[in-house]
Amino acid sequence: MVIGTGAYRGGTAMNNRPSEDEKTVFDVLIVGAGISGIGHAQHIQSRHPARSFVILEAREAPGGTWLTHKYPGARSDSDLFTFGYRARPWNGPPIATRQEILSYLGATIEAAGLSDHIRYGHRVESASWSSAQQCWVLRVADQASGSIRTYRARFLWMCQGYYDHDTPYTPTWPDMERFAGTIVHPQHWPDEMDWTGKRVVVIGSGATAATLIPALAQGAAHVTMLQRSPTYFVAKPNKNELADTLRALDIPDAWTHEIVRRSVLAEQKVLQVLAEQDPDAARDLLVSAIREELGPEFDVDTHFNPGYRPWRQRLAVVPDNDLFKAIKAGKASVVTDQIARFTPGGIALESGQELAADIIVTATGFNMQFLNDIPFDVDGDPVAFHDKVSYRGLMVSDVPNMAFMLGYLRTSWTMRVDLAGDFVCRLMGHMDSIGAASVTPVLGEGDAGLPRGNFIPDEEFNSGYIQRGMPDWPRRIERDPWRYVISYFEESAILPEVDLDEAALVYG
Ligand SMILES: Cc1cc2nc3c(=O)[nH]c(=O)nc-3n(C[C@H](O)[C@H](O)[C@H](O)COP(=O)(O)OP(=O)(O)OC[C@H]3O[C@@H](n4cnc5c(N)ncnc54)[C@H](O)[C@@H]3O)c2cc1C
Repeated sequence: MVIGTGAYRGGTAMNNRPSEDEKTVFDVLIVGAGISGIGHAQHIQSRHPARSFVILEAREAPGGTWLTHKYPGARSDSDLFTFGYRARPWNGPPIATRQEILSYLGATIEAAGLSDHIRYGHRVESASWSSAQQCWVLRVADQASGSIRTYRARFLWMCQGYYDHDTPYTPTWPDMERFAGTIVHPQHWPDEMDWTGKRVVVIGSGATAATLIPALAQGAAHVTMLQRSPTYFVAKPNKNELADTLRALDIPDAWTHEIVRRSVLAEQKVLQVLAEQDPDAARDLLVSAIREELGPEFDVDTHFNPGYRPWRQRLAVVPDNDLFKAIKAGKASVVTDQIARFTPGGIALESGQELAADIIVTATGFNMQFLNDIPFDVDGDPVAFHDKVSYRGLMVSDVPNMAFMLGYLRTSWTMRVDLAGDFVCRLMGHMDSIGAASVTPVLGEGDAGLPRGNFIPDEEFNSGYIQRGMPDWPRRIERDPWRYVISYFEESAILPEVDLDEAALVYG
């Protein structure tokens, strides 16, 4: 169901039960009603139907990223067979628009009967673990009434996303204030923005820029993509022949979803192995498809042949070559250069060139956050997450009964939502079977003195937002179970086999 801006609003009427909530100690409390929170709620429902759970969501509707990002052309950059949930078939083309993703999420909420469990307009402001009560006590701002409420839960599942939804990342350049036109960040795209007949410069080279440019090019006088350095793109038609064949044969949706999901993953695995073992061949494969589309006259090496090896950043799909078609049609162009300063009429570049602009879009990314910067304490002692170590990229050392969600960065995010959902539900079942009320990851003596590094090592993934965000995240030790495994193909073989009686997990 899609209404108005595309936000699903079913369930908002169910929010009038905070006073009952305050008397309850929930078995599980999920923070965030984005793809992760809704995904994990389905896991709880199916694996632990007797457990009580509630989802607290700061916004007035579900969707998270897909509610926040409403710039023209907003769409997924990975396919919905893998970005969709394992248990909910995707029936559309591989790459989905923001509206389609919100509809899919709304339909999932509806089908799973999750509306009653979601409290919209409820922002978690702090989280305190009480050993005496054996539960989390959360301070929650109820935005509608302006009051502060207290929620209690035995297990806290943090699905609040990995970046600041309120403040995007915009670098400052000299003389920005002198620019006479409009500067806009895609994360704060105004509904009334009109780019018809305007000269637009989009600063950035990532998936957001690649998505925005063909959409803006339809009405603008011209769109220039201004990048410091190139990014890899996967140029592909927005269709999946295997899915189309299976659909034409009336194969049940659930089978088609699973089969196509496996085939997409198998294809990605080939590319990932190639990127690791023969990065030059992987580069050739990606860049030659763009070369073919743009023709011999276009300087692909300057604009679309990155300096880093493939897979050290996310590979964004360009569906139906729309970005390259806009370039070929002369509606858009690419400039690879450094910004010297802004001018009243546009941007002066280090090369001496000046780009004329009426609108400058800063598609420069977001500010990564850990757990939405919510203050946590355990029995009154504040938790400094950067001094802790992550347990399997899902829990934090010395923090009881708390899991957090970071999806995959190379494979679709949701592949990890399902894998983590399996793990956390298995952990809860194990706690039941041994009569434990709490589980805390604790570093053994042998591990405590080992060198610690970034949660995501730079040599694995080097996007700017990761490098900026890492200092606030828990650390990593280069040994299981103290590392976040960045590859789905590696982690999917590890997580389901984890011995829940391993020494790192201390039950109470
Ligand atoms: C523009 C963009 C495009 C992307 N495209 C893809 C893609 O194609 N494929 C892919 O795999 N990944 C993509 N990603 C990564 C993307 O963020 C994830 O795939 C996914 O949507 C994240 O879902 P989430 O539920 O974990 O977090 P979010 O979508 O960030 O949702 C978190 C929710 O938690 C709520 N929340 C936060 N703090 C609090 C609090 N204190 N109290 C209560 N509620 C709170 C927020 O309001 C929000 O609704 C993209 C990211 C961006 C920014």
